[in-house]
Amino acid sequence: MSSTAIVVGSGPNGLAAAARLARAGLSVTVLEAASTIGGGARSSEYLLPGLLHDHCSAVHPMVVASPFFQQLQLPGLRWKAPEIDCVHPLDDGSAGAFMRSFDETEKALGVDGRRWRQVFEPIAKHFDDLFSDISQPIIRVPRHPITLAGFGLRAAPPATLLARMWTTPQAKALWAGVAAHAFWRLDQPLTSAVGSTLTAAAHAHGWLVAEGGSQTIADALVADIVANGGRIETGVNVTSRRDLPSHDVLMLDVSPAAALSILGDEMPSRVARAYRRFSYGPGAFKIDFAVDGGVPWTADAAHRAGTVHLGGTLEEVAATELLVHKGAMPERPFVLVGQQYLADPSRSVGDVHPVWTYAHVPNGYTGDATEAIISQLERFAPGFRERIVAMAVRSTTEMSVYNPNYVGGDIIGGAGSPLQTVFRPRIAIDPYATGVSGVYLCSASTPPGAGAHGMCGANAAARAIKHSM
Ligand SMILES: Cc1cc2nc3c(=O)[nH]c(=O)nc-3n(C[C@H](O)[C@H](O)[C@H](O)COP(=O)(O)OP(=O)(O)OC[C@H]3O[C@@H](n4cnc5c(N)ncnc54)[C@H](O)[C@@H]3O)c2cc1C
Repeated sequence: MSSTAIVVGSGPNGLAAAARLARAGLSVTVLEAASTIGGGARSSEYLLPGLLHDHCSAVHPMVVASPFFQQLQLPGLRWKAPEIDCVHPLDDGSAGAFMRSFDETEKALGVDGRRWRQVFEPIAKHFDDLFSDISQPIIRVPRHPITLAGFGLRAAPPATLLARMWTTPQAKALWAGVAAHAFWRLDQPLTSAVGSTLTAAAHAHGWLVAEGGSQTIADALVADIVANGGRIETGVNVTSRRDLPSHDVLMLDVSPAAALSILGDEMPSRVARAYRRFSYGPGAFKIDFAVDGGVPWTADAAHRAGTVHLGGTLEEVAATELLVHKGAMPERPFVLVGQQYLADPSRSVGDVHPVWTYAHVPNGYTGDATEAIISQLERFAPGFRERIVAMAVRSTTEMSVYNPNYVGGDIIGGAGSPLQTVFRPRIAIDPYATGVSGVYLCSASTPPGAGAHGMCGANAAARAIKHSM
């Protein structure tokens, strides 16, 4: 009889773990608390009929670069590229912008273009090699040490220090916006790691979106699991391991706090202590808009960009990220805007378009950031307010109800502090091991962290397969 595996949670990591285990011949059941599968890779027409919104993840260069997804070669996934990957507008109507092509980015960034290329081209050229190393836990022998060393030079400094490579406010702000994806104060070591990875990914693959929405990523994984004999059950909230049917392997696509309560006193005290100490980062306050005629941006490039970052200059972004880090709500928070419909027009209805936004707010923020988000849009796109046809708001609390992995609205599975960037969820040779035989943590709270790349789940499953053979 084949070994049995239960996977708790159907986010991209839970599904990736399930797909790897099912392909290895285990009898796999995925248990998902929500009524729909996909965790952070769900999309639906929930505002107006025909208008497709990504509820969480939107932009997917890491899925395209993911060694696991490259190995699976899933049919049914089609990638679409916006004309410009990212634009960061400033108050004077100018903007920093990058696109996949270094030649075009050089032109767009003027005097800073050459330097931008010098910083990111060496890592973008070998991005898939780089990602195959950085998508693994840190304690291992790298396969591409030279590329990794080059990345280390760019990743190690504080983002505010790396910003000195550029002289114009446009290039500095553009960099600050990408670096802010770390969800951490930008003046600390290693805060260039996330920004360097995302920028190199943009130049290697483009900030691609999935045709038909991010849900297609989850659906493609489910099809692979089912084709290999696996089963998915929704509406099952797992609270204790004792309630589960017998199993040889248990994969937990949950937060460390939830893993602690599911395993209870089975978990060795040293691991339990580390999970209790695990810290969560700032929150996200999300608004999906239906916008008639699209966003009336002042900066021309923003009309053609898949992603637009709103937060003003480098100094302003660094200051607002610092405030949020300290638990205070800035008047003008950093806001990310997704215009996936530009690459994938099938998401719109006539001239009404789905616009995806979220702001960085303190963890557990109980206030209403709706007006702050709309004001940031108005700042760089006067007249936006009049174009809103419908909107749906998700506060940090609602985020954590929608998906319990988003503790206090933290959508990246744990604070992006220097320590947790390198070691998550704890300092260990095998970060996926929970200390309970056959039980693994496989969520974004493990290496390599946030994203729909599935590598946390695939890595944890590889260990489970090795140990169960
Ligand atoms: C607003 C937003 C924007 C984002 N943008 C991007 C982006 O553009 N690109 C990108 O790559 N990533 C993005 N992300 C991050 C990405 O979505 C996550 O990092 C990714 O989904 C993590 O996958 P996961 O499998 O670890 O967990 P999740 O996707 O969070 O899934 C966990 C699943 O487990 C279920 N679950 C939890 N506890 C239990 C339980 N006890 N019993 C049963 N089921 C349980 C949950 O319901 C959920 O379905 C974004 C996230 C958000 C919210």
